[in-house]
Amino acid sequence: MKVKEALRAFGTDYRDAELLLLHSLGKDERSWLIAHDHDELPTDVVEVFSSMSTERLKGVPLAYLLGHREFWSLKLKVTCDVLIPRPETELLVEWAVELASHYDLDSMLDLGTGSGAIALAVQHDLPNLSVTASDISELALSVARENAEGLGLPVEFVESSWFGALAQRRWGLIASNPPYVSVDDAHLLEGDLRFEPNTALTDGGDGLSSIREIVSNAPDHLEAGGWLLIEHGYDQATDVRSILELNGFSQVSLRHDLGGRPRVTGGCWQC
Ligand code: GLN
Repeated sequence: MKVKEALRAFGTDYRDAELLLLHSLGKDERSWLIAHDHDELPTDVVEVFSSMSTERLKGVPLAYLLGHREFWSLKLKVTCDVLIPRPETELLVEWAVELASHYDLDSMLDLGTGSGAIALAVQHDLPNLSVTASDISELALSVARENAEGLGLPVEFVESSWFGALAQRRWGLIASNPPYVSVDDAHLLEGDLRFEPNTALTDGGDGLSSIREIVSNAPDHLEAGGWLLIEHGYDQATDVRSILELNGFSQVSLRHDLGGRPRVTGGCWQC
């Protein structure tokens, strides 16, 4: 089968087919496909490409099939043990980098790091910041560690259920993209979410229980004048604000994602 025939042979979206075929060939450049569109493909490549196309048609996320996703211009390895990093989370990174630079903070904790996305992006921009990343999942941590090694970034990783294994430690900044989808949200049954780790998406309750737990314990782990930033759902901003205020945070503020949806709320401890 020729390259140009293969791209249309298995019924996937054309752009997905290009990326999956390049991946099956072990190549990166889309221009290769254009320059070689009349080349005959080896049978084993067609087999791999055909089976990945079948998976894609069943809904398996492209990032899991390719094994990576770009986040904050970093190429991150992803497996089905981690949430696929999303563009809206870059807003949290942007805010964290701003705060750490502006207040000259010396340390940050990324709670529930998954692939390591937030911790690695911030560490990439601020090499002198001391960055810790935690996750309850050993499998997620091994993906995150591999990403840190591949990028040569000195993030410290700790296996911990929220602050469970982090007793007595304090940071200047704590950032988290916790599971905030409510268990009865129909989105869990759609698109990529069907294939992502459920525990990274939903708390199994109203979507706010992990946020409540993080906010109520954060004061024991923040330095005075430190900041807590939390990513949340588009309809949770009011609740997250009041959870922060009830727990004594001040300067509570909200940022919207590129789609104009409320997305990250932050507050300062003992400001
Ligand atoms: N932003 C994700 C989604 O709704 C959810 C991520 C999360 O729960 N932290 O698709």
